Amino acid sequence: MARALTRDELFRNIDLTERLFNDGIAIDEDILQELDFENSYLEQVHGCFNMNHVTHLKTKLPNSFRDPTGYSFNVTFDPASHFSITRDSGRYVLQDKGKPLFEIFFQKKPKYYDKLTSDGARMSSVAQYVGRSKITIAYSNECSLQEKGLDCLFCNINATKSSYADLEGLGLKTSLQIAETTKAAYDEGYRRLTITGGFIPERREVDYYIDVAEAIQELTGLEDFGGTACIGAPLDLNVIDKYKEAGYNSIATNMEIWDSNMFKTICPGKELICGGHQNWINVLKREVEVFGKGHVRSYFVAGIEPKATMLEGIQYLMELGVVAIPLQWNPNPGSALEGHRAPTSEWFHDVVLKTYSLLRKNNFTHEDFYVSTNGEETVFDYLFNADGDFLPWEKDIYSQLKAV
Ligand code: SF4
Repeated sequence: MARALTRDELFRNIDLTERLFNDGIAIDEDILQELDFENSYLEQVHGCFNMNHVTHLKTKLPNSFRDPTGYSFNVTFDPASHFSITRDSGRYVLQDKGKPLFEIFFQKKPKYYDKLTSDGARMSSVAQYVGRSKITIAYSNECSLQEKGLDCLFCNINATKSSYADLEGLGLKTSLQIAETTKAAYDEGYRRLTITGGFIPERREVDYYIDVAEAIQELTGLEDFGGTACIGAPLDLNVIDKYKEAGYNSIATNMEIWDSNMFKTICPGKELICGGHQNWINVLKREVEVFGKGHVRSYFVAGIEPKATMLEGIQYLMELGVVAIPLQWNPNPGSALEGHRAPTSEWFHDVVLKTYSLLRKNNFTHEDFYVSTNGEETVFDYLFNADGDFLPWEKDIYSQLKAV
């Protein structure tokens, strides 16, 4: 059993999470070769984006690890990083510049990862682990904006597909594959999912999402299957009701950039195909009307536009009832912004704390954050925990959180 996590450790870990993301982690080649992904450890599956600092095809990479308290850290692989994972007397240790920080425990994989759908697809290629109780499903691992030269400048979905799709058996998923995988994951205790993915030609996603919802409901017997539909802004706002009617209980539409001029430059397809910057805001407003406050989410790519501008957008959307969340920008390999530098982790830490204050000020709960976002055990989850706002099943895990 994990030992108690102190408040000091929790804030140290939040800081470390942000630094590990920015600076990456090197892992010795012999460790990568010996890790037993077949039977034990959770590997990275690149269903949408490669979030490492390089494209690494020689071996599989671990998805995440925990410290002795159970706190979860994602792996952002960077062979040149000053952070490294090494082996010491049979234990794995996180080091910074050669100095040991603590023992780590690689995340074990869910049981459903080893199962096959009825048509022979590996379930790990259909839905990926994003936390203790959540899975994510990228129905399409490519984005049709590329054909028009309009993909978002920070995005590497199409480059990721070129590098990893064949290697990992990734492609368009059928609604039956998704339903069977969801059933297997939910039988194991998972309880929420997000359906996401790149734009498909002619924006036919609403029909697809409805088919997926019906198939999941039929197989799991759950009318409310804990689903979040992540969609691009539709031109016809009435479409939003259809997602609700289909059984999704939350919805997400990611603005990425708040400044309207920067939005045009950084997200040219979202501007030209989806009715422009104002339409994204109109869609989010309508989504709150249909799904309710706290059941609508919008992610921002934090680090491209000025901090004050992005926070202004986050505040504006939160006042409308949207869970607006900054994600730390990684200049992903294969994106148009590859080779750029993200701001310092201190910059992002300030953004996180200010966003968390806005979440509290606008009366969003941990539950709101949980049902609307596509992740778990994030720095925001830990901040809610630090304030005593636990998800019901977390009480057992973190009840030992001690003030010092
Ligand atoms: S809409 Fe933009 S962020 Fe989304 S998949 Fe397409 S290019 Fe990537």
